[in-house]
Amino acid sequence: MSPRMIVRFLKSQFSRMGFLRAPRPIACSNCFSDRGLRLDAERFGQKRSAVCPNCKGIGYGQLTRDQLLSLSHRFFVWGSIQRASYGAAPLVQFNEMQSTCIEVEPWLKPDISLLQRLLGIGFFYYGPRLWMVGEVEPLKALQRKKQRASILDRILKEYPERSIGPMDTFFRVRVNPAQPSDPSQYDSPPVTFTGRGRLDSVGRPILYGSSDLEICVHECRVSAEDEVFAATLTPLRDLRLLDLSVLLPEKDGVTEFESLDMAVHMLFLAGKHAYEITRAISDAALTAGFDGLIYPSYFSLLRTGAMPFETTFGISHRRIEQMQKREQDKSIQNIALFGWPIAEGKVTARCINRVVISRVAYGFHFGPTFPAT
Ligand SMILES: [Zn+2]
Repeated sequence: MSPRMIVRFLKSQFSRMGFLRAPRPIACSNCFSDRGLRLDAERFGQKRSAVCPNCKGIGYGQLTRDQLLSLSHRFFVWGSIQRASYGAAPLVQFNEMQSTCIEVEPWLKPDISLLQRLLGIGFFYYGPRLWMVGEVEPLKALQRKKQRASILDRILKEYPERSIGPMDTFFRVRVNPAQPSDPSQYDSPPVTFTGRGRLDSVGRPILYGSSDLEICVHECRVSAEDEVFAATLTPLRDLRLLDLSVLLPEKDGVTEFESLDMAVHMLFLAGKHAYEITRAISDAALTAGFDGLIYPSYFSLLRTGAMPFETTFGISHRRIEQMQKREQDKSIQNIALFGWPIAEGKVTARCINRVVISRVAYGFHFGPTFPAT
């Protein structure tokens, strides 16, 4: 057989097996009734000249089976995530084994039937594995004052130390500073203002910064009439930091329920009720002689557009080796330095700029609402 005949033979075999056939669209955004689902479908879909095989509409974004599955996941699963004090879990899940049992509003009913028919899936209420809503032993121990110290010890021992020096820079943003060009304005706030943030306790000030300027601006809750300034800060000597932003490698047998990594991850994604614990970690690191911390920003997920606490078959992606790089990339690193590092000569302002906020953009997608029970 000539090479050309071999290629032709292989092509015919592959095409019989469906490898070379481009997946065909089976629905379009116009097939849906729920407005949010229509808008999401239009973004997922691709405009084609042919009519939609389902509704016969022309000019709408058309979706293949895989795209409809992704759309269903984003709308129903991600779109139904409920936050707990620690962690979060979707209210709805779907698969090919179960039939639909969720109660939805009238405008979503036809869409559920359509997805059921086209994809052979059913939507049901998801019973989350309890670690997803904070049933994580080291996290529970941190919440109990008597057991806290042993977990703080583990955090200091198991998380890596990282050093930053004169070659590194990070930003510190101030809103309406009295003297914008004065470097001391970018030091930690005066002692009377301590004890209000995620890591500073009364009398123990913290200089908060980040190498991500958007995070700095967002964390300052800037509004249109504010004068905003950013100092580019650099250490004058090597500083020892405890790095809590890493995905902590743990032994194979360690489940999410026992995971220190999951505990710390959930802690920094939690609201103000977690401050008592995050401040205790900060105090422990100060006592242990560190100059500060690197920690994941509370706004990491908003900044990276990532879904919180992603799982496959109830297993956290943080515990699946192939997913860990992607999980680590979801975290934006902030920096916290103890004391008044500018006054103490540990850090200097290399440059101070005015920041002109010219545009704010929001990214969003939709989810269902459920009838009142
Ligand atoms: Zn259609």
